[in-house]
Amino acid sequence: MENVIQELRDREVGKVLEQEPLANHTTMKIGGPADILIIPNRVEAVKDIMDIVKKHDLPWTVIGRGSNLLVLDEGIRGVVIKLGAGLDHLEIDGDQVTVGGGYSVVRLATSMSKKGMSGLEFAAGIPGSIGGAVYMNAGAHGSDMSEILVKARILFEDGTIEWLTNEEMDFSYRTSVLQKKRPGVCLEAILKLEQKEREAITAQMQQNKDYRKNTQPYSSPCAGSIFRNPLPDHAGNLVEKAGLKGYQIGGAKVSEMHGNFIVNAGGATAKDVLDLIEYVKKTIREQYDVDMHTEVEIIGGNR
Ligand SMILES: Cc1cc2nc3c(=O)[nH]c(=O)nc-3n(C[C@H](O)[C@H](O)[C@H](O)COP(=O)(O)OP(=O)(O)OC[C@H]3O[C@@H](n4cnc5c(N)ncnc54)[C@H](O)[C@@H]3O)c2cc1C
Repeated sequence: MENVIQELRDREVGKVLEQEPLANHTTMKIGGPADILIIPNRVEAVKDIMDIVKKHDLPWTVIGRGSNLLVLDEGIRGVVIKLGAGLDHLEIDGDQVTVGGGYSVVRLATSMSKKGMSGLEFAAGIPGSIGGAVYMNAGAHGSDMSEILVKARILFEDGTIEWLTNEEMDFSYRTSVLQKKRPGVCLEAILKLEQKEREAITAQMQQNKDYRKNTQPYSSPCAGSIFRNPLPDHAGNLVEKAGLKGYQIGGAKVSEMHGNFIVNAGGATAKDVLDLIEYVKKTIREQYDVDMHTEVEIIGGNR
């Protein structure tokens, strides 16, 4: 690994950290070390990193703000690329914005509302990056990224960079083409917003934020919804009906506020969370004959 680290440093790709605990980079505050964690300092650096990764045949993983991740206790082998500062550029051209993959979704929603640009009200309380939101087709309050994305600039494993249109992103419920079909790094995105009265936008955002504060454990370490909704059911309702709210294994606990959230109640390991997920799945299958699938991405170890 020493030669890889030296090469990364020689190419000045950004911050390069060895054996960095991923608990420092996830909202659940859980996760073992990454062999190498890189925070690239510009768009071109991500391409340089991918070239080096491929040359040395290393596994790679991209993360944003770690708000939809359960990283296993064994950590992640190879290279983890974290998009954040360095890929947080923003350009506004009429009703279109070009925004870096590392830009905070909450920050963007707030700054757009101040300019009277509507479309991101749904995202006011989604604590991810633009890249993570595109990958997940993040959404809430009846809207999601697919409604505002014009195109996304993706770096693929073979080093090619392409702009994928909204259609090519193949969005559906919390899913995009980047999940399994065409893995790549979302470097930046172009979003189409529309002019509206500023007061109406900020009022809608405040209403969305208040709803979250009253219904979700927003300030506890967690990763948002653990399960995808097994439509037409809602995961949270099933968990609540099964009497699992407050159920705890080790430091991992089903939130008392919302059945579809698992919080790190203190010192939780990834194993505690995995055991709790399995327990909830088994209970729901036995009681309601419904199979639950995780929305949170479980990464690391041998996965
Ligand atoms: C309190 C709380 C509330 C939440 N509420 C919502 C909600 O209402 N709606 C909702 O949809 N989500 C919600 N989430 C989940 C989460 O915020 C979203 O899924 C978000 O889009 C994840 O972005 P991220 O940058 O944190 O991605 P990460 O968690 O870092 O990564 C998630 C996945 O995206 C991939 N990824 C990340 N960045 C990129 C990139 N640049 N290019 C390609 N792939 C990438 C990663 O490889 C990983 O597979 C919530 C989370 C929390 C903690």
